[in-house]
Amino acid sequence: MSDILVIGGGVIGLLSARELALAGAKTTLIEMGRTGQQASWAGGGIISPLYPWRLPDAITALASWSQQLYPELAAELFDLSGIDPEYDTNGLLVLDSEEQASALTWGERHGWRIELIDAVALHQLEHELGVRPRQALHLPEIAQIRNPRFTKAIRRTLESRVELREQEEVIELLVEDGRAIGVRTPKGAICAERVLICAGAWTAKLLEQLGRAPEIEPVRGQMLLFHGQPGRIRHITLYREHYVIPRRDGRVLVGSTLEHAGFTRATTAEAKEALYRFAIELYPPLKRTPIEDHWSGLRPGSPSGVPYIGAYPGIEGLYFNAGHFRNGLVTGPASARLAADLLLERTPILDPAPYALDAPRPGLELLPSAP
Ligand SMILES: Cc1cc2nc3c(=O)[nH]c(=O)nc-3n(C[C@H](O)[C@H](O)[C@H](O)COP(=O)(O)OP(=O)(O)OC[C@H]3O[C@@H](n4cnc5c(N)ncnc54)[C@H](O)[C@@H]3O)c2cc1C
Repeated sequence: MSDILVIGGGVIGLLSARELALAGAKTTLIEMGRTGQQASWAGGGIISPLYPWRLPDAITALASWSQQLYPELAAELFDLSGIDPEYDTNGLLVLDSEEQASALTWGERHGWRIELIDAVALHQLEHELGVRPRQALHLPEIAQIRNPRFTKAIRRTLESRVELREQEEVIELLVEDGRAIGVRTPKGAICAERVLICAGAWTAKLLEQLGRAPEIEPVRGQMLLFHGQPGRIRHITLYREHYVIPRRDGRVLVGSTLEHAGFTRATTAEAKEALYRFAIELYPPLKRTPIEDHWSGLRPGSPSGVPYIGAYPGIEGLYFNAGHFRNGLVTGPASARLAADLLLERTPILDPAPYALDAPRPGLELLPSAP
């Protein structure tokens, strides 16, 4: 019998299983498809929230902690797995002007390096921009990770430490006398002392059977991929709620949409058109760059964007780590460490109160206007 069952093999489940295994817990991870194929594959991999100054401090705390760990984590995973997760510090440019003053104040308060640069400096950083703001924000320390490689690398390092059960859906949580005792899959019951739910957008579906579930629902995001040349675009660039991410090999990701469309991952012609128009306005040379792909993923949307990390009230041995909405890559390492701390009754790295099921989640609207 495993000590701990982790349900869901996205970045959150994989990183959580890693933390638990590193602490010596006998861990099994159960994934209904293949690991790292849902939101964690579809995402952009920016190691920062978009417009971080707009977000509750509870997200900043997880993001800041994770950002410190990322260089070492990426190097270690590369070393152990042979898969390069392509952690690159490209820096982030924010071209919107309305929030510059509040962003600078926020940066000083939280120790994030944010610089106000003029049009000349901006042009030196990116020659081919099609929009010409008088000033922009430059966050030179912001990095990206190539998320499909990142999850593959984590998985590879878990193969020898964690029992990985793929293509097996958890259909029921087993509870006896107020205690989680395991889960049921189509193959039968799997028993464990503790169960950690990391089921992303599907988390509420699983927990509903217990009467109370976190407010997590799927929010679809579509992305467009250009097959570009390395080095033409160098920075992650954010403008009017959309962004461009240059990968090391020249590919350029353009995102994204925010849509309530249930659990369908279909893509739409409207979103493709809107993302394309945005991309060529921001970087006109993309007009002459072939489009390689267009996909979508289901973010685990939570009302304030603050994830749910902690113990399920009233059921001993049941925990959750889910609802990371737009920030699961940037907040994943800290979320996983915090969840492991709580499960293993260690001193937590951060105050867990804001992530509890009952914690108030003020702040963000779930859905700003979608394109
Ligand atoms: C277009 C887009 C762009 C994004 N860009 C960024 C970004 O730049 N930076 C950033 O930090 N974040 C970004 N995100 C958000 C980030 O991708 C998510 O927050 C993160 O991937 C969530 O990870 P997860 O493990 O909770 O969910 P998922 O990756 O969806 O994993 C959940 C897993 O649980 C499994 N599962 C569900 N139910 C069951 C069950 N009953 N039994 C077994 N398995 C089950 C699923 O199959 C799935 O594999 C983006 C997301 C999208 C869609």
